[in-house]
Amino acid sequence: MGKITGFLEFQRVKETYEAPLKRLKHWNEFVHTLSDDEARQQGARCMDCGIPFCSSGCPVNNIIPDWNDLVYRQDWRSALDVLHSTNNFPEFTGRICPAPCEAACTLNINNDAVGIKSIEHAIIDKGWQQGWVLPQPPARKTGRKVAVVGSGPAGLACAQQLGRAGHSVTVFEKSNRIGGLLRYGIPDFKLEKSHIDRRLAQMEAEGVEFCPSTYVGAAEHAEEGLNTRTPESLQEEFDAVVLTGGAENPRDLPVPGRELRGIHYAMDFLRQQNKANNGDRVSKQISAKDKHVIVIGGGDTGSDCVGTSNRQGAASVMQFELMSKLPETEDKALTWPYWPAKLRSSSSHAEGCERDWAVATKSFEGKNGKVEKLIAVRVEWFKDKATGQMKMREVEGSQFELPADLVLLAMGFVSPVKNVLDAFGVDLDARGNARANTDDYITSAGKVFAAGDMRRGQSLVVWAIREGRQCARSVDEFLMGTTTLPR
Ligand SMILES: Cc1cc2nc3c(=O)[nH]c(=O)nc-3n(C[C@H](O)[C@H](O)[C@H](O)COP(=O)(O)OP(=O)(O)OC[C@H]3O[C@@H](n4cnc5c(N)ncnc54)[C@H](O)[C@@H]3O)c2cc1C
Ligand code: SF4
Repeated sequence: MGKITGFLEFQRVKETYEAPLKRLKHWNEFVHTLSDDEARQQGARCMDCGIPFCSSGCPVNNIIPDWNDLVYRQDWRSALDVLHSTNNFPEFTGRICPAPCEAACTLNINNDAVGIKSIEHAIIDKGWQQGWVLPQPPARKTGRKVAVVGSGPAGLACAQQLGRAGHSVTVFEKSNRIGGLLRYGIPDFKLEKSHIDRRLAQMEAEGVEFCPSTYVGAAEHAEEGLNTRTPESLQEEFDAVVLTGGAENPRDLPVPGRELRGIHYAMDFLRQQNKANNGDRVSKQISAKDKHVIVIGGGDTGSDCVGTSNRQGAASVMQFELMSKLPETEDKALTWPYWPAKLRSSSSHAEGCERDWAVATKSFEGKNGKVEKLIAVRVEWFKDKATGQMKMREVEGSQFELPADLVLLAMGFVSPVKNVLDAFGVDLDARGNARANTDDYITSAGKVFAAGDMRRGQSLVVWAIREGRQCARSVDEFLMGTTTLPR
């Protein structure tokens, strides 16, 4: 703890954003990183708690008090080493993590939490600027080969750890570029794709091989034009296979009119814009320009649809959420150190969007096969006395309609795509995810492991990194009988 009175002297300072009207004119990031002095002061607010709740609140268990102290002392190089010791990709989490560590910070009980995420962001950006982030190839190779299927944060973290342990790792990805949802889900304005490219160059220099445009599974399920690798061929060629294919099966809204043109899954819309930003030609791109857009679903994906629609020039954007509106502040005495349920507003909401809660869509109507309006009702939530569960009922006479030229379904993801798991003969859990525990991540299919959203269901980047790292340790132990990789 560098400055014993820091938490008494300094207030939390947040990262600043470019003004909405300016940032809406481009697709780039708009967050200004803390200056060295600001980061130093923010690091000084850390109390170096005897029990650092921030670390246990963080899924990768970042050693937060140590790097806070090192930043206070301006020893950025050591701070970077501590940060990298638990997290392969802090440039992703420093930008897009919701920061459960901050909810768990002791200062958050009666003050503002330490700005942990903004300090992480500052450390890793400085690391790259100074040229400190270098390839770490293994001192010797083991002769073992591992296939990783899916190149999101879980697959990449797993591949990097296994490559550094000396295994020959090949990452297979069905998309034309590596990165999973980091690449084609999360928009550029939240995470510029050059951050991924930089890491991929580092991993290639460490010996990891990437095979984009390659579908793993039965050939009949592959999209046209993709290379295909069968599960059998991978199992024959590799000593272990790790499945990190994400949870790609979106939740649908099967109401009358769903078949009308102009109603799309959020990911179809976001993927196309991300591809266009990456320089790909996208034919018949779904566009929000001059349209009345309705986004159904109030989470991260919905918020990304709001930001993307506004950048495309939507006439209006409305976002509906089925659940009731949450309070703006939590009762900390009840919730700390856990992640509190409270109203969350993103930078995309600040750019122009109407939001409404406790709304259920009943149907869509249109002309000539094209959607023109959405019919909805208000709902109220109540506790069922018999079961104790929350239930929903329609508010009588509350039906209303809104003009809708483009409807984006952002109601989450139900499960991984079953084909690929079936093709490997992997047992599923009750929710349709790959069944594997977090002790060894091994599935029912012998030397096949599973991690990330494919194993745990739709989640967060930081959880995917954790699972990728832990799974790598288990694979290493499986291959070598022992391991020195961290959990
Ligand atoms: C729009 C959106 C915004 C989000 N925003 C945030 C955010 O701000 N912060 C946050 O923490 N989390 C966010 N998330 C969640 C986060 O992106 C995911 O939890 C995380 O990416 C999961 O990582 P993963 O590696 O398990 O899978 P994914 O990132 O989904 O990667 C899986 C990859 O596997 C590939 N694949 C699947 N099957 C095959 C196959 N058979 N053969 C070859 N390749 C295959 C897919 O093409 C994909 O590239 C967001 C999610 C979405 C959809
Ligand atoms: S809980 Fe907060 S104050 Fe305590 S060590 Fe962690 S960041 Fe510092």
